[in-house]
Amino acid sequence: MSTPPKSETSFIGIDLCEAKLRAAIVSGEGVIGERREAALQPEGVVEQVASVVSDLRAAAGEIGAIGIAIPGLVNRQSDRVIASRDLPSTVRENLHAEVMKATGLRVELENDANAAAYGEYKMGAGSGSRNLFYITIGDGIGGAIILDGKLWTGASGFAGEVGHITIDTEGSECECGNTGCLETVASAPNIVRRANERLNRDSTSSLSKLAMNKDFTAGDMAHEAKEGDDFSLMMIERTGKYIGTGVASVINLLNIERIVLGGGVMQAGDLILNPIIQEAKRRAFQPCFEATQILAAALGEDAAIVGAALLARDAATT
Ligand SMILES: [Zn+2]
Repeated sequence: MSTPPKSETSFIGIDLCEAKLRAAIVSGEGVIGERREAALQPEGVVEQVASVVSDLRAAAGEIGAIGIAIPGLVNRQSDRVIASRDLPSTVRENLHAEVMKATGLRVELENDANAAAYGEYKMGAGSGSRNLFYITIGDGIGGAIILDGKLWTGASGFAGEVGHITIDTEGSECECGNTGCLETVASAPNIVRRANERLNRDSTSSLSKLAMNKDFTAGDMAHEAKEGDDFSLMMIERTGKYIGTGVASVINLLNIERIVLGGGVMQAGDLILNPIIQEAKRRAFQPCFEATQILAAALGEDAAIVGAALLARDAATT
């Protein structure tokens, strides 16, 4: 049994996502202190992590452990990254062992959606609940389950892959090999793809401001929707319906107390949250739906940093 960390001990949370390395000191109470951010090179991740850790340690007192959120599948038994589309080098490198060796600190690796779920559960929109399903909608769609206060990661660590539940049996091919996954219609790149397809075949849609910007993003669409652009509003509402269909399945399956939705696509705010809730209500088994709160995430980009740090804290005490 390890000694519980002293109350003045802090932790380092690191999020490796979307070509950025974001790191911060997180107090034992879950409060973010000193931060660092750098461009993330796809190779040599160990060196980049070790360098930011040494920089942060110079700015803090005692550090108990490091938590790292990885955009990929992490096997918690072997502490190895099994697959990562964005950071394939982390599959080859033994990140866990190498970072421990380089820093002399205990290291916890976790999938980024799991880490963000834990952050929201402890410090954000999940506060006060015991059971929570977290969905992150950005370049991909990830999910995580917290049952009775603990991450429930499944038989081999990959539970909660809500992005790969089938929404349309006739839908387009997904990276996972299935067709018609939620991710194929509702991830940020796929929202843009659907919008472009529609702009190309529907002349009235070309009145949309989006049609004037060839390289628009899902974020631009959210912006135009907030400005009252009908086409953008319609695309966001339809996306909300797809996500709500997935949310209804989660509700029916788990009768879960709270569902928290985060990630870049949720920056559209109520414009997407309301259709998600309406569609979930329309499709879910009513008694299950009535027991579920559906909320937008509260910690934004910090969720995975806080969650990774607190997972590292809690691994020391359990
Ligand atoms: Zn899929």
